Amino acid sequence: MQRPRRALVIGGSIGGLFAANWLRAIGWDVTVFERVGDDLASRGAGIGTHEELRAVIKRLGLTVDETIGVWVHTRICLDREGRVTHELATSQLQSSWARVYRLLKDALPTTDYRFGMSLEQIEQDAGGITAIFANGTRERGDLLIGADGVRSTVRELLLPEAQPRYAGYVAWRGLVDEATFSPAEHAELFERYTMCFPEGEMMLCYPVPGRDNDTRPGRRGYNHIWYRPTDGRTALPELCTDATGRCHGISIPPPLIRPEVTARIKAEARALLAPQIAAVVERTEQLFFQAIFDIETPRMALGRAVLLGDAAFVARPHVGAGVTKAALDAECLAREIETANGDLDAALGRYDRQRRLFGSRIVARARRLGAYIEAQLKPRAERTEAERQPPPEYLMREIGTITLDIRALTAPE
Ligand SMILES: Cc1cc2nc3c(=O)[nH]c(=O)nc-3n(C[C@H](O)[C@H](O)[C@H](O)COP(=O)(O)OP(=O)(O)OC[C@H]3O[C@@H](n4cnc5c(N)ncnc54)[C@H](O)[C@@H]3O)c2cc1C
Repeated sequence: MQRPRRALVIGGSIGGLFAANWLRAIGWDVTVFERVGDDLASRGAGIGTHEELRAVIKRLGLTVDETIGVWVHTRICLDREGRVTHELATSQLQSSWARVYRLLKDALPTTDYRFGMSLEQIEQDAGGITAIFANGTRERGDLLIGADGVRSTVRELLLPEAQPRYAGYVAWRGLVDEATFSPAEHAELFERYTMCFPEGEMMLCYPVPGRDNDTRPGRRGYNHIWYRPTDGRTALPELCTDATGRCHGISIPPPLIRPEVTARIKAEARALLAPQIAAVVERTEQLFFQAIFDIETPRMALGRAVLLGDAAFVARPHVGAGVTKAALDAECLAREIETANGDLDAALGRYDRQRRLFGSRIVARARRLGAYIEAQLKPRAERTEAERQPPPEYLMREIGTITLDIRALTAPE
């Protein structure tokens, strides 16, 4: 009997877990190697989901029920005075990174997932591929899947020319417990997707599963994401500098964000956002931020290594599609391998063509939605038509709603 083929999955976040579950589903041996030393479930924040994501999870045989997230059926836009200026009926299920992570991780045998394994090198030969880790361990497989995110080591080793490009803005984020809402505030905000559009900026707020992924009323969370232009040469390093004066690069662990930075963001929230939203920002215990990047890779399959999820393409979060894209990448990879009659090279080639087309189109779409925020760093006279701030009706309709577009995006050119 032929031995099962073995996949080495680098990165144990959502992309890596989808890959591992899908390859196990077609009979492969899979091991996930995650750099971080301990469970990742406390990480992350709210995520918007799509019908496609729920469908992929169901096709994997996992349960999608009401505990996966919180449904929101109305979107509203608030002006600086807190008045509702626009309203749109549209339904979306808001979940959280931790909820999807837990679902996928619990479906894998614990022995197939190893923490504290940081990939450093890759060797390929005619017989397969070897991953070499920082602790000296070597692991051999038939296929290596780089699901190691925006700063992918696999991509850096195999395609060093494909570098992330800073978009010129950051997302300030935070999570507040439902229990902190007064009854009046709750009635007005909690079960709606609320948006504010100060000039050149974008604030989005919506309910998500709460602590321990609880979706029961009273125990949910309220997620906010505020996109703000931030110069990459001066302002971003300043945000990433801790109280001892050390600059951590392009990100900083949230507890190390200086109190005066947090106080400044809260003061700017009071000055620019609807008062009821500024009040939510005010009582957020830990504000944190993520710099926004675009990444496009020229290839997703390189010999016996493939890139998947954010390691391959990062679309700005306005399409809310990172998790869905990673899920669809993983399913496509498994299906191509399954139907290739053992011809792995042919399967990887087909994976590369299909998912690269999808990735580049979704990156372009997300870039269009965020172009006006990026353009704030240019003098007004130099901004193009595409860099003007779109009307709220357009942003309310387009943000996070790619459902039908996925088919259009994947259609042949
Ligand atoms: C502000 C913001 C809002 C977002 N909102 C949404 C949303 O609403 N909906 C949505 O679908 N998506 C959203 N996303 C995107 C989503 O979070 C990502 O697309 C998704 O987490 C991608 O997962 P990934 O597994 O590809 O990469 P990551 O989650 O980045 O995981 C990579 C993993 O690889 C590990 N790793 C890295 N290097 C190594 C190494 N050398 N060896 C071993 N392990 C390594 C890391 O520790 C990490 O666990 C948002 C992103 C941002 C920044």
